[in-house]
Amino acid sequence: MSLAPAAATAAASPAELLRRVFGYEEFRGLQERIIHRVVGGGDALVLMPTGGGKSLCYQIPALVREGTGVVVSPLIALMQDQVDALNAVGVRAAFLNSTQDAEQRRLVEQQLVAGELDLLYLAPERLRLESSLALLDRARIALFAIDEAHCVSQWGHDFRPDYLALSVLHERWPRVPRIALTATATEQTRREIAQRLDLGSAEQFVSSFDRPNIQYRIEPKAQSTAQLVKLIESEHPGEAGIVYCLSRNSVERTADALVAHGIPALPYHAGLDQAVRRRNQARFLREDGVVMVATIAFGMGIDKPDVRFVAHLDLPKSVEGYYQETGRAGRDGLPSTAWLAYGLQDVVQQRRMIDDGEGDVAHKRRQSAHLDAMLALCETVQCRRVQLLSYFGQPSEPCGNCDTCLAPPETWDGTVPAQKLLSTIVRLDRERGQRFGAGHLIDILLGRDTERIRQQQHDQLRTYGIGGELSEQEWRGVVRQLLAQGVLAVQGEYGVLVIADAARPVLDGTRTVMLRRETRRATRSARSRSGAAGAGTARAGAELPGAAQPLFERLRAWRSEVAREAGVPAYVVFGDATLRGIAVSEPRTLEELASVSGVGEKKLESYGDAVLALVAEGAAA
Ligand code: ADP
Ligand code: ZN
Repeated sequence: MSLAPAAATAAASPAELLRRVFGYEEFRGLQERIIHRVVGGGDALVLMPTGGGKSLCYQIPALVREGTGVVVSPLIALMQDQVDALNAVGVRAAFLNSTQDAEQRRLVEQQLVAGELDLLYLAPERLRLESSLALLDRARIALFAIDEAHCVSQWGHDFRPDYLALSVLHERWPRVPRIALTATATEQTRREIAQRLDLGSAEQFVSSFDRPNIQYRIEPKAQSTAQLVKLIESEHPGEAGIVYCLSRNSVERTADALVAHGIPALPYHAGLDQAVRRRNQARFLREDGVVMVATIAFGMGIDKPDVRFVAHLDLPKSVEGYYQETGRAGRDGLPSTAWLAYGLQDVVQQRRMIDDGEGDVAHKRRQSAHLDAMLALCETVQCRRVQLLSYFGQPSEPCGNCDTCLAPPETWDGTVPAQKLLSTIVRLDRERGQRFGAGHLIDILLGRDTERIRQQQHDQLRTYGIGGELSEQEWRGVVRQLLAQGVLAVQGEYGVLVIADAARPVLDGTRTVMLRRETRRATRSARSRSGAAGAGTARAGAELPGAAQPLFERLRAWRSEVAREAGVPAYVVFGDATLRGIAVSEPRTLEELASVSGVGEKKLESYGDAVLALVAEGAAA
């Protein structure tokens, strides 16, 4: 590998490194201030959403300061890609983890001690070994970066013991600056990180948690697979995405269905062989346009920048989880979609999982509160983003880039249908001591002639057949929304519906029930996509003009080839945003190419001629 010698970068300023090494013109958000702080030897605690640009906050200081920047990260599966991406821009990076054999490790250790590394990635458990600490003693350390720092708090229990042990860094190397980074927003997590990692005197940098380039959409679930196929075919053909399902079964089924529609989809869940999981993840990261269908076991730390959509086919358990998962879309700042389909069955199932699950009453109450917040987001008639950000304590204005902003939902007075449903439930319970799930209650209201109705003589009920004004689908919407509003509750193994406290005033007629009308949501067409509007598009860039499309496709094909030969993910060669920049500006000289965002000196040297040839080919045609 041909490297920029340490001496050449050591004297450079952060702004110069940003331009020459990474090929970017300007710092984003708080990056410059954070880098300044760490270069000066101060500690920092950085909260930035996924895709905010956290990596540069320690990579650039590691290049400016003398010695090696040591990056602690629990995501050993990704270290190879991170190191490849750095090597591709000419930064001398390596990692030490359990996937290497002794010889590979020895080589890296040698480079470290000889001062030949700008960055070294380490798994946290390594730092509990005295031998690792002794190794670091023999090296010159520029800084410690603690990535995924929320792992020290209760929520990240998996790696928690290893992270708690990281307080040793400060004791052993009191003069080496430390920068802790996380995308987890809550105030409590932040306090805990500062306390546990002994970062009390660190300057805190809290970015806006908004992800303006992500379009949030939530729609009622009808035939979820068909809805998903439509989303992919009409809005994201040939693009990479993640589809989250709750169960292994539905992961398998959904992946099969997508493949049957000609969409390259792969499954990922804890029940699969580890080798299969690893292979599928590698294909998702490396190839263009693969759709990963997964349980939430997939995705932590996946820093593939060009994931164009994240779809949820089941209701997430909390707003935190939802935001973290959807945050994996569009790290490169280009327009992306977060799409969720949810239905009545989701609510019933999740309530049951909470009821039947482990934990004490307080724990269940907390889980219920999380679910309620998620339901409130689903049923809101406000801007989704306003609601999301306010959940994280950040006030904002309607965004213009979510479904409720793009197609404001109609509300309607659902008091009478609500009363019909509630009184059916009350009658069955009082008069016969019976409780039923939504399906049978709706059958009664619609006056259906089913075997169960006949058996139970429910056609004798006074509410039998009084609900003909709504369709079955609409009735399901009513039930779902009443659950979300706390008028109804779900109980027990069979998901029977019972009335909750808030049902009283509805039955008395003293409370009006306003419901969201179930309409077909406006989906984003190729045209309205660029109208995503708001601050986000400034960074995302406009939609690719039609004339640039053929060159973009040629560049993509070339990139796949180069990436495959080098055995690295496609984005390590160039990100989508950079390929778009090239396709639009059609550079004729190396100098023009260098001015495209994402083209630094090393990549210009590696790929410049090939890219110019591709551009020229198009011009000649
Ligand atoms: P995070 O770790 O916060 O999720 P990354 O560090 O992976 O985010 O950055 C997300 C993407 O944004 C990457 O593709 C990165 O190269 C790009 N990026 C970061 N900083 C800048 C910048 N100043 N200008 C342009 N692109 C940037
Ligand atoms: Zn909005």
